[in-house]
Amino acid sequence: MQRTHRRLGALALLLAVAGSLLAGCGRPGSPPIRGPRPDQLPTYRVQSDFRLPESSTWNRARKRGRLIVGAKEDQPYLGEKDPATGVYSGYDIEIAKMMAASLGFDPATDVEFRTIASANRETALQNGQIDYYVGTYTINDNRKQLVGFAGPYYEAGQSLLVRTDEDDIHGPQDLDGKRVCSAAGSTPYQRIQKDYPKAELVAYDTYSICVDNLLTYQVDAVTTDDTILMGYAAKAPDELKLAGKPFSKEPYGIGVPRDDTALRFALDDALAVHEKNGDWKKAYDATLGLSGVPAPTPPPIDRYPAN
Ligand code: GLU
Repeated sequence: MQRTHRRLGALALLLAVAGSLLAGCGRPGSPPIRGPRPDQLPTYRVQSDFRLPESSTWNRARKRGRLIVGAKEDQPYLGEKDPATGVYSGYDIEIAKMMAASLGFDPATDVEFRTIASANRETALQNGQIDYYVGTYTINDNRKQLVGFAGPYYEAGQSLLVRTDEDDIHGPQDLDGKRVCSAAGSTPYQRIQKDYPKAELVAYDTYSICVDNLLTYQVDAVTTDDTILMGYAAKAPDELKLAGKPFSKEPYGIGVPRDDTALRFALDDALAVHEKNGDWKKAYDATLGLSGVPAPTPPPIDRYPAN
């Protein structure tokens, strides 16, 4: 009986929160959630005379007349797609746009975003489905066997999201016997599997499905980068909170086809330019910065040699 009540309560809560997550605003009566501030976003100067003939990816995009960029669509402040307009926004989207401008494409008209889940990023880059990828994509040696990475442009850390009524989970050491949800193919999923084998791992394609499962008591925690979890917590502060401190380093890179070193170096150069001219900080402040963390100093760019 108690359980039925709890389930019904959870269902009502899920409907309320899922509705507000989709609508991008808070519950009735609560202050509106601050989304990216379009009025405060920088405009990026398009380098119309830019040429990169040695990059097969750039040549292909140039012939097509636009760039196709892989991204996330359900990560508040980072990569979000407005279901009504189809428009993408967030910090990663801004990084993708500033890169486009540097490559000679107008971010307003010549960039098409495509949603690609964590588990499908490498194949999307290998198959030429996308030209580059910007979506909380951690640089690591395993992935470098399959794709190339420009950057990093930000460093996140793995953390835990729990319900506000949860008192037992304060860090990954408390996950024994708990149901923990993460995205298939992600580094946080792999870390729990390897370092905390007594946790009961559940995988879905996206973190928003994990959050739905958390709200309906199907799982006890969601784990991924703090950046992503802070966005969900900010949208439902009465229901969700972060637990403990970040327990990994997740340097975010721009994924490119592995052999296209020319494109990778061009993006490294472009990042350095936009960090120096203030675009990077302005974009951060108008997007991810709204979750409450002031702009850090961007991590040093790791321009590794062709392999
Ligand atoms: N940064 C982590 C990763 O690349 C988690 C976030 C994500 O799945 O995009 O696996």
